[in-house]
Amino acid sequence: MPDSLDKIASEVRVCLRCPLGKERTHAVPGEGPANARIMFIGEGPGYHEDTQGRPFVGASGQYLEELLAGIRLRRKDVFIANVVKCRPPGNRDPEPVELAACRDYLDRQIALIQPEVIVTLGRFSMQRYFPGQSITRIHGQPKRVSDQYYLPLFHPAAVLRNPEWRQQMVSDFALIPQLLAELDAAKSPAQPEPAQDEDDENYTQLSLF
Ligand code: SF4
Ligand code: URA
Repeated sequence: MPDSLDKIASEVRVCLRCPLGKERTHAVPGEGPANARIMFIGEGPGYHEDTQGRPFVGASGQYLEELLAGIRLRRKDVFIANVVKCRPPGNRDPEPVELAACRDYLDRQIALIQPEVIVTLGRFSMQRYFPGQSITRIHGQPKRVSDQYYLPLFHPAAVLRNPEWRQQMVSDFALIPQLLAELDAAKSPAQPEPAQDEDDENYTQLSLF
């Protein structure tokens, strides 16, 4: 049987591959459209996520939605997942054995969705694609690997705790549509610019994007 997002979610919901499985109320497989162009990868479920079985539904989630709105997206437009799918007790950091045990589920989700932009939120998902790096140093610096971008961003919860990072988070987020536009431009050969009236400034501005 071919792999599917539903199959992965059903496996995750009953998974006991690592000790976090016994502690959870609900596993949080992740959610979003199978053809999402953008995938966000957070750390792990918190209290609210564990209660509801859905990713980013607490304060961090509300802030994530606000950031998405700033680039004219809604959460249903993107896929949202985590590096561990069950809540670490007391919101402690996930342990290396837990990250390793859970890794395959996210890898399979990525293989099915084939997102064009993978946005890592915080250090734990950053480490998958930028090993040994520091988030404070590399946030907002995308890495292109063939037709896919990896973009490391601060974790929304960290920004909520450090309001001085808010402005930076907004400008890092603004890179997401730029990266998609770049990938689109690379896909379709350049079209000749349509003829324009010289005094039509609005038109010129819009066509730049
Ligand atoms: Fe399984 Fe991942 Fe939950 Fe551990 S965190 S029990 S590996 S789904
Ligand atoms: N923080 C995360 O990293 N993931 C969630 O799903 C919620 C909060």
